Amino acid sequence: MSPSSRPRLRLATVWLAGCSGCHMSLLDLDDWLFELARFADVVYSPIASDCKTFPDNVDVVLVEGAVANADNLALAKRLRRCSRVVVALGDCAISGNVTALRNLCLPPLQRVVPLQAVIRVDLFVPGCPPSAARIRAVLEPLLHGRWPQLAGPDLLRFG
Ligand code: SF4
Repeated sequence: MSPSSRPRLRLATVWLAGCSGCHMSLLDLDDWLFELARFADVVYSPIASDCKTFPDNVDVVLVEGAVANADNLALAKRLRRCSRVVVALGDCAISGNVTALRNLCLPPLQRVVPLQAVIRVDLFVPGCPPSAARIRAVLEPLLHGRWPQLAGPDLLRFG
């Protein structure tokens, strides 16, 4: 399929229990955001829409933050049901990171857990926050119908 005839990617971003730093890093893509807009529609995002309900038929969703409460859990389950590719964006989504520090002082039923503890995750983008270059390395192939090849210290390092 030629790029011009390929359907536009339906892209979502979600902010669970995080500090918004991963979304700020997404905005650091600067000019490449125009390239993104040529091939994708942002159908749900805390920084780009006032959509209240996570929509159906999402191609790719970037998820910032850990799962820290019942609302996070419900949204995580819905986005998994509605999305083809779920990307854990940043160390809080992947490991709990600083958000999980609260586990040191709250009872077990209120534990913070990483995203893959409650749903299947397809891709992991580490970093606190992940750099814009690292986010682009995941998004760019997906935009063009390819699976990202994440390798090397620049793409796999935490922190
Ligand atoms: Fe914030 Fe870092 Fe967690 Fe991203 S990974 S939400 S930047 S603390």
